Amino acid sequence: MSTTDASSEKSQREITFAADRMLGRLAKWLRVLGYDVIYGPHLTGYGLIRAARAEGRLILTRDRRLKQKQPPEFIFIESDQYCDQLRQVVRACRLEIASKPFTRCLGCNSLLQIRPKETVKQLVPVYVFDTQENFSWCSQCRRVYWSATHRQKMVEELEKISAR
Ligand SMILES: [Zn+2]
Repeated sequence: MSTTDASSEKSQREITFAADRMLGRLAKWLRVLGYDVIYGPHLTGYGLIRAARAEGRLILTRDRRLKQKQPPEFIFIESDQYCDQLRQVVRACRLEIASKPFTRCLGCNSLLQIRPKETVKQLVPVYVFDTQENFSWCSQCRRVYWSATHRQKMVEELEKISAR
């Protein structure tokens, strides 16, 4: 095994998360920012620990008892408000808010692919096709994304969160 680039490899390796089942909204917002987050009803207690350990993910949890189960690295999320939760994680992990938003599927966590407009005609409502130019697509769950007004609202909300 080569040891030459271990440190630079580590710094380049992007942080990934495993969120417990109480943190659905936080998980979604981290995906909005483009971060890799696993989340689901099975991710609690030892299931969460196992999943995080298997893939080297940082655990995000609201479960005070998780500590007793000897988890790998974790962040205890203080607030039950998603804005505060997101702010806590952004600060603790020094996440970049603006580097790659809207690059990941909010439903399944896969990376999105750019899709040429002419290929989505059958996949989106007519008014969307007529008014939007940029589309991306999740090849796993086949959801099509476009830059609609809700995206602008999300960006504004994120800016508010990071400014406080
Ligand atoms: Zn998807």
